[in-house]
Amino acid sequence: MEPSQDPNHPMNASRYHTGKKCIEKGCDKPAGTGWSPFWCQPCNAKRLTHVSDVLQHEVDRHAGKVPQTSEPPKRPGSFAGSASS
Ligand SMILES: [Zn+2]
Repeated sequence: MEPSQDPNHPMNASRYHTGKKCIEKGCDKPAGTGWSPFWCQPCNAKRLTHVSDVLQHEVDRHAGKVPQTSEPPKRPGSFAGSASS
């Protein structure tokens, strides 16, 4: 398990909560982790997993494991930020 996916990890402690709600559409969990003040813990974990997937895709592209024209994985659902631009 990645630290971001562990609700009991120190980086997910309540001291990082901002008092605002998560910016993810339809999510009203408390925002704020050691990684970002904008997302709640579960949404942040999903976000970082997606970022890792995109980076891995770029590594695979560089290594020739996927075609040069291959699109990086798309994140399901809404996404307030962008990992690619
Ligand atoms: Zn959330």
